[in-house]
Amino acid sequence: MNTSLVWLRKDLRIHDNKALYAACEDPVARVLTVFIATPKQWHKHNMSQRQAAFIFDHLYQLAQELFLRRIALHYHQCADFAEQIDWLLNFCKREKVNKLFYNYEYELNERERDQALERRMPKQILCQGFDDSVLLPPGSVQTRNKEMFQVYTSFRNAFLHKLQESELACLPAPAVRQGQPVPVPSRIVPFSYPRMQLGDNYLIGEIASMSQLRTFCDQKIQYYRYNRDIPAVDATSRLSAWLTIGVLSPRQCYQKLRERYPLVLTQNKSGAFIWLNQLIWRDFYRHMMVAYPSLCRHQPFISWTQYITWQQDDVLFSAWCEGRTGYPIIDAAMRQLAVSGWINNRLRMITASFLVKDLLIDWRQGERYFMSQLIDGDFASNNGGWQWVASTGFDAAPYFRIFNPTLQGKLFDTHGTFIRQWLPELKVVPDNYLHQPHNWLKAQNITLNYPQPIVDHSKARKLTLTVYKAAAKVRK
Ligand SMILES: Cc1cc2nc3c(=O)[nH]c(=O)nc-3n(C[C@H](O)[C@H](O)[C@H](O)COP(=O)(O)OP(=O)(O)OC[C@H]3O[C@@H](n4cnc5c(N)ncnc54)[C@H](O)[C@@H]3O)c2cc1C
Repeated sequence: MNTSLVWLRKDLRIHDNKALYAACEDPVARVLTVFIATPKQWHKHNMSQRQAAFIFDHLYQLAQELFLRRIALHYHQCADFAEQIDWLLNFCKREKVNKLFYNYEYELNERERDQALERRMPKQILCQGFDDSVLLPPGSVQTRNKEMFQVYTSFRNAFLHKLQESELACLPAPAVRQGQPVPVPSRIVPFSYPRMQLGDNYLIGEIASMSQLRTFCDQKIQYYRYNRDIPAVDATSRLSAWLTIGVLSPRQCYQKLRERYPLVLTQNKSGAFIWLNQLIWRDFYRHMMVAYPSLCRHQPFISWTQYITWQQDDVLFSAWCEGRTGYPIIDAAMRQLAVSGWINNRLRMITASFLVKDLLIDWRQGERYFMSQLIDGDFASNNGGWQWVASTGFDAAPYFRIFNPTLQGKLFDTHGTFIRQWLPELKVVPDNYLHQPHNWLKAQNITLNYPQPIVDHSKARKLTLTVYKAAAKVRK
């Protein structure tokens, strides 16, 4: 009897899981699955405690789902990727595995690990990888010269064309493996990461994620284009945490979207299309990471930006992390991030811009901090987002585009609903003054426990422009 092993990584689901589906195609094979936690590696990659907790909560569920299908989930813990390989080789030998299936992870360390494993795997064991965490495989959307597009909109247009051609379909969950013995459940032991309360926004399981997808498509997507930037409105899908650890696949999102909005590909002003566009950004950053592996070494995409002279200032950095900058929209966002592990895309852009272009602190410091907090921390999207904001990335915001934090607050939290939620100390400040409370407080002779602005935005803006221009000159 053949034994097939599925190495589960960031694909913690039974539905539409390409590797799991392929392993189950042989109806009589014994199918095993394994998940190997790597605390040291996760720590090195700044994975947040929330994400680790989210992974473990899903592992228990997944083990149960697999058990019902007579598929065993083996859990193991190794320090890092190198140890993972040794352990897997031994496991394959011990369990007489003939075939190993896995879904690709596109980060450089992960790809190097998989290549090293395949090199060391005995020839008689077939290893097969799948492009599972994307809508279209990296490298499949290219210019006529077989290169990565240099402009996102061109990439997207080509992507949409391919998407239309390819009939993306979701795979079913495996059936119960009749005739197989009931597997012995493996003990899943979360390592020293403390247990975290994830809150009501993060229910556990594929069913919960599918139900959230359905609710979003049925009730919110038509307003998405108007509300997605407004932090006081629960207007976005909040699916990123599930997508990141693979409880939900982007194909499932796309399929639901097509079911609900069959004309989505042609109605480019609709909320559905704008949401699909965000899913394409997600794919885009993955495609970029494969085309330019140096991104995984935290190198800027635009090479002259490596000459920017960043400020080393731990006090300013801590004030940013802790939401004590004196700019209400920044502080409210940073406090939401620290408490909940999630902020919307607009807030990610404004806070990132503030760190890089108001405080002139290296974007890589912010990138690391975001990863350490986000429940949806994903290397490609996080690196892509930071490089976009810092104007160091591919098709990024031009360096002279610097968000004014006060104006952004006025635009997207006009009545201060979001600010008051996260900065209760500002509750007494009237709407008109909320985004610059200090003058009003002074005039009223009120002292609140809220800091003065840590920088003057217009001065900081001028300094940043000078520093970026100086770096651009070094290139010449
Ligand atoms: C500085 C910065 C850092 C970011 N870090 C991450 C990160 O670590 N992980 C992460 O998943 N996203 C990241 N994003 C992208 C985006 O902010 C989040 O995906 C989004 O806010 C998640 O909320 P949602 O699921 O409600 O998104 P929705 O608006 O409902 O979008 C649906 C899905 O599309 C994808 N998506 C949306 N916007 C983007 C985008 N700009 N880039 C790439 N994918 C996108 C996500 O998978 C998201 O779940 C970052 C953006 C910036 C500017």
